Amino acid sequence: PPGETLLELNNIEVIYNHVILVLKGVSLKVPQGGITALLGGNGAGKTTTLKAISNLLRSERGEVTKGSIRYRGDRVQDLNPSELVRRGVVQVMEGRHCFEHLTVEENLLTGAYTRKDREIAADLEKVYAYFPRLRERRRSQAGYTSGGEQQMCAIGRAVMARPACILLDEPSMGLAPQLVEEIFGIVKDLNEREGVSFLLAEQNTNVALRYAHYGYILESGRVVMDGPAAHLRENPDVKEFYLGMS
Ligand code: ATP
Repeated sequence: PPGETLLELNNIEVIYNHVILVLKGVSLKVPQGGITALLGGNGAGKTTTLKAISNLLRSERGEVTKGSIRYRGDRVQDLNPSELVRRGVVQVMEGRHCFEHLTVEENLLTGAYTRKDREIAADLEKVYAYFPRLRERRRSQAGYTSGGEQQMCAIGRAVMARPACILLDEPSMGLAPQLVEEIFGIVKDLNEREGVSFLLAEQNTNVALRYAHYGYILESGRVVMDGPAAHLRENPDVKEFYLGMS
């Protein structure tokens, strides 16, 4: 069961290009051992929230102008992105982002770049145990694997960093329903067996609320609702506006 707070955003404001206010005071918590869903439609600010945490906004001319981001109690918003990876927070970006010209296995190994220990080979085996498809495809150039395999490869690469927390952006994007279930099933296994915590940005509210423990709903850069996933699933407004049942 989810425990103490790992990541905490308090009243985060993000501005792009000095003028475009995109996050208007977002607060949320990611508990240790939980799967936390960040839900909302296109443009609600999910990706921006994840990039704010990873300190990846600068290259997009974005800036956190207010609020605090803490990881295990430490303020992290001025850290170098790779320092955050070393501390255990790894982002899997939207659109999968494998190195297309490297093999699947080479991609996975790049995930261990911040590590110096000698257990990298054992962890590669572990990733293959979670993702048997990646073992089959390990010598294939990543650019020639399917969309689902590339998503698995991107998550597997994150696992190679031995993360405490994975920030996963839109894993269901562009994938067939069966594959989406397969990937979420693996996320659940990684959470339950390896104790990896997840902050999961998803437009697919239905699938995300079946796997997450807790959810936050973003609209136009604000959290408009949050609660245990089971409660959100039963909430009439969530049903009507996000689950398409009314
Ligand atoms: P999606 O599912 O489409 O990624 P999202 O909820 O992740 O949606 P964001 O990508 O965070 O939303 O975008 C939030 C808002 O910020 C949108 O209105 C978008 O147009 C704007 N935005 C994103 N990146 C930039 C940027 N680099 N410069 C200016 N505006 C941006």
